Amino acid sequence: MGSRKVTSSEPLDWQGKHVTVAGLGVSGIPAAKVLHARGANVTVVNDGDDARAREQAAELEALGITVRLGDGATLPEGSELVVTAPGWKPDKPLFAAAREAGLEIWGDVELAWRLRGPDAAPWLAITGTNGKTTTTQMLASILKAAGLRTAAVGNIGVSLLDAVLGDEQYDVLAVELSSYQLHWAPSLRAHSAAVLNLAPDHLDWHGSMEAYAADKGRIYEGNRVACVYNVADKATEDLVREADVEEGCRAVGFTLGTPGPSQLGVVEGILIDRAFVEDRHKNAQELAEISDVHPPAPHNIANALAAAALARAFGVPARAVRDGLRDFTPDAHRIAHVADVDAVAYVDDSKATNTHAAEASLAAYESIVWIAGGLAKGATFDELVTKSAKRLRGVVLIGQDRALIHEALARHAPEVPVVDLDRTDTGAMLAAVQEASRLAVAGDTVLLAPACASMDMFANYNKRGDAFAEAVRELGS
Ligand code: ADP
Repeated sequence: MGSRKVTSSEPLDWQGKHVTVAGLGVSGIPAAKVLHARGANVTVVNDGDDARAREQAAELEALGITVRLGDGATLPEGSELVVTAPGWKPDKPLFAAAREAGLEIWGDVELAWRLRGPDAAPWLAITGTNGKTTTTQMLASILKAAGLRTAAVGNIGVSLLDAVLGDEQYDVLAVELSSYQLHWAPSLRAHSAAVLNLAPDHLDWHGSMEAYAADKGRIYEGNRVACVYNVADKATEDLVREADVEEGCRAVGFTLGTPGPSQLGVVEGILIDRAFVEDRHKNAQELAEISDVHPPAPHNIANALAAAALARAFGVPARAVRDGLRDFTPDAHRIAHVADVDAVAYVDDSKATNTHAAEASLAAYESIVWIAGGLAKGATFDELVTKSAKRLRGVVLIGQDRALIHEALARHAPEVPVVDLDRTDTGAMLAAVQEASRLAVAGDTVLLAPACASMDMFANYNKRGDAFAEAVRELGS
């Protein structure tokens, strides 16, 4: 059996190939079905054995796929390839066994990449600790404005497998990739790619900051036209330097300052391209105005510049960049202006689930009553509080790990009034908003940017943002 292992260089003949699919779920089920339909001998292994898993297993077994519930640790006899759900931690015994047997391990992205047809659309790929979804959607909007057939795919919306194997024809894909997906995508080669920023996140999964950065950096491997990096975040530029790219591929920076040659940036409120122009030492191309970016918060302008850089790398004209940005509205709970009540703005950035995102959010307003707290996921808050202290009118804390934020505030901003709600029930959001409204004065912004995950109090960040909006409505009524 060992001689029939799947390797990167081999043409894909799936007939009779023994493939282990790790994880029933959004990526595992379609992967199992697709490989089975191509003639592979598929076994799905899954840790859980609950009612839902049994239902899903029955569906796959009816097709002739083997499913092993309650044991995701053991590698089935005779496996020649493992296709894993991207979230499965690399230190699982299943993977150790697969590596021991010399097998390749593919995630959902690698599978889609390997199954795409010969005329498949090129990928413009985006990763980063924060801003991925927004930037990918902005990019898709710009590409559409240029008349290209495209979709925002990957870690959002349409799965890559569907995009690659579906009936829809694309000219180019805007692909959001998580660090997990990149970890399991050894042979991915994007047309061009961007790493938006790099801050500690998911370190328990990756094992270390170095391993996390290295996985993010894979996105640049084999790029053909441009590796787009963040001038303000040197770690992203370092990843470009370390990448093995195609001859002629360029490093292109984006900056909120004046762009140098081979950069996109901002001059007097205008987004400027000094990379994809003739004679970039003398020329520059105006792309859009800051007011074309929604919302025009600094980090979001950075997202727009990254999206623009990838679009320009693909040859999109300047006008389409402007039109695409104008057409774009961000998903809910990302710096969403909920309402003004008594001349105070209430903004929902529930998606700011880590300190790096919250820092960007807090930097977008001058005088803030900050609602924060939840599950800290091992984060520390000293840097965030130090950088944001001068903007804080007051703070209202909720959630399980609020003491960590409270302590950081006591250390670095003792003059800022803090209301510690000492509550983790869902109803606490109403109390938080009421307390915030008491602290705020006309012209302030009450900002929900929790810097923490939501699961201690809410099902997810959407529900947390909804609760905030609901509380604001109650306040205004
Ligand atoms: P992701 O898909 O990476 O989670 P999103 O586009 O959904 O990113 O944005 C998530 C949150 O991250 C936003 O609510 C905002 O607080 C913050 N954010 C967005 N873009 C950036 C950026 N470029 N830098 C820092 N934080 C950002």
